[in-house]
Amino acid sequence: MSDQREQYLEALGIPVWKLRAPPATTVAPADLAAPLEVISTRLVAGEGAAPATMAWDELAATVRVCTKCGLHATRTQTVFGVGRRDAELLVIGEAPGADEDRQGEPFVGRAGQLLNSMLRAIGLPRSDVYIANILKCRPPGNRDPQPDEARTCTPYLSRQIALVNPKAILAVGRIAAQWLLQTDEPIGRLRGRVVPYGEAGTPLIITYHPAYLLRSPLAKATAWTDLCQVKDLLRKPQ
Ligand code: URA
Repeated sequence: MSDQREQYLEALGIPVWKLRAPPATTVAPADLAAPLEVISTRLVAGEGAAPATMAWDELAATVRVCTKCGLHATRTQTVFGVGRRDAELLVIGEAPGADEDRQGEPFVGRAGQLLNSMLRAIGLPRSDVYIANILKCRPPGNRDPQPDEARTCTPYLSRQIALVNPKAILAVGRIAAQWLLQTDEPIGRLRGRVVPYGEAGTPLIITYHPAYLLRSPLAKATAWTDLCQVKDLLRKPQ
């Protein structure tokens, strides 16, 4: 086990067990060999006037006063996105939760703390990446986003993707991955691959949502392999 992986697992609170002898072979997970049913690797068009030409400030101001779906009625504030606008890595989550709705920033609760640790483990402080969600407003009671809400909100995310123009995208969690790829494939089948995404064919990596990792700590070891893939992609010359 590499020192870096050990440090990652220890930082995330996973006890590290060491084998007395190395395994004879490494077997690829069977489901990664199976064909993946991905309907789309293009940005979802979304609904309404696409803010395709908006610059950052206009886009942020438009999102701040958005009333295009019912979620505006229950939000405290919109959660636009945070981080470097020229980041090499764009992280895409699902939707703001209670903490994010209160603070106006994505991934600031417990899941956010874990996301920060995961990024730090591959040498990326939170301030070096850009973080956004599929939805800019909190669904009440943290329910899953509804398709019409995601469709209405997607033009904002599409513009953020175009403006950041990242070297790689990391989708965290089933909801973000399934929406971006317009597929019902389970996350266990989506992760572990690099999918060229959008017009630019930006490499998209999928991993587990940090909230899921808080409930299922053993999956953190699997998430580490996804993060290593991100790190490798960022190291490659463009
Ligand atoms: N979960 C998400 O997907 N996004 C957030 O911003 C917070 C929690």
